[in-house]
Amino acid sequence: MTQFKPGTKALWSGEKEQLAYGATQVPVVHSVSFGYDDMDEWHEIATGKREGHIYGRNTNPTTQAFEDKVKDLEGAEAATSFSTGMAAISNTLYTFLRPGDRVVTIKDTYGGTNKIFTEFLPKSGVDVVFCETDDHAEIEVEIANGCQVLYLESPTNPTLKIIDIERMAKAGHAAGALVIIDGTFASPVNQNPLELGVDLVLHSATKYLGGHSDALGGIVCGSKELIDQIYHYREINGATLNPMASYLLLRGMKTLHLRVERQNENAMKVAQYLKTIDWVDDVFYPGLEEHKGHVIAKRQMKGFGGMLSFSVKGGLETVHQLLPKMKLAKRAASLGCVQTIIGPPRTTSHVECTPEEREAMGIPEGLIRYSAGIEDIDDLIADLEQAFNSLPKELYAKDA
Ligand SMILES: *Cc1c(COP(=O)(O)O)cnc(C)c1O
Repeated sequence: MTQFKPGTKALWSGEKEQLAYGATQVPVVHSVSFGYDDMDEWHEIATGKREGHIYGRNTNPTTQAFEDKVKDLEGAEAATSFSTGMAAISNTLYTFLRPGDRVVTIKDTYGGTNKIFTEFLPKSGVDVVFCETDDHAEIEVEIANGCQVLYLESPTNPTLKIIDIERMAKAGHAAGALVIIDGTFASPVNQNPLELGVDLVLHSATKYLGGHSDALGGIVCGSKELIDQIYHYREINGATLNPMASYLLLRGMKTLHLRVERQNENAMKVAQYLKTIDWVDDVFYPGLEEHKGHVIAKRQMKGFGGMLSFSVKGGLETVHQLLPKMKLAKRAASLGCVQTIIGPPRTTSHVECTPEEREAMGIPEGLIRYSAGIEDIDDLIADLEQAFNSLPKELYAKDA
């Protein structure tokens, strides 16, 4: 399926191999184990000499279809899946890191990822260095000081900073590091980091891949050699994606390209609208020309994504009054859903962090993250407009 365009892959990749009985859709194979009458065949499959399934913690046909689809969309040789995005991240890091190793990363990683770096990896004797997210020169200096893993994320959560992926991958490889990137915010429709030179690209499938906020999952794509090692760590440690979630993710992915294209459009229009609103101090969206990472984003992304954030005058108080007024935005954690989702980082992506830690990451308490859905744009804009119009003017005066 590698010759086809993303929209075609989203529909056809990974499916044919898993169809039985003339079914046109991949079934949910709810089976813990897979049996064989022929002892030699069983042994060959169990020892990896022949393709097939043995036990549900290792592999499953529905899950394999999901993995194959994402693998094709990322243009990867192999992929392996996990129960959540965080499992994909932690299992991948623990596969490769040893006591005494050094990781170079950025300050703006996803909140849970940041906790792995600050809380768990140090307990395993791994040293983690945090760089200013879009200070490429600083990252290069730290990489040159020596590291086994360079861990990136782009665009970042929640202020949509952009990393020059090709430049960082080159620097990482020059130092002999394994280069890993979390591409969740972009989805494989907007960005394919393997083409830009990274070794592994991860996704929280919970977000754009599934797209309907009804299933958790994670996936990592890369060379067969690397994925085999990560798969082995996961099959033993057990953070396996279950068949029902695989099916939901697989089903969601059939419209991935349509959803993401619409979300790209909606996010751009919402960002442009927010720029015209007096209540709004800053709008963070890589599609805006004045965004610090716009030129890099334009070069390395096929679309600017459905995520944006903005800060409001009056800070936290304005956030508290504005969000409940919005009728067409779910006030919830998560992102990348067909419906618009809105929330402050202090209760969503960075809830694990203290206000001081958020401040150090450059996340103002008055920041609002907006995950554009696929609604009609006129309705989304009108909804924002009525919500801003309902705010008491005293709040504005406080900050103006
Ligand atoms: C949500 C998210 C994760 C974690 O994924 P889960 O599926 O919630 O475990 C990791 N990285 C990014 C960028 C995310 O948005």
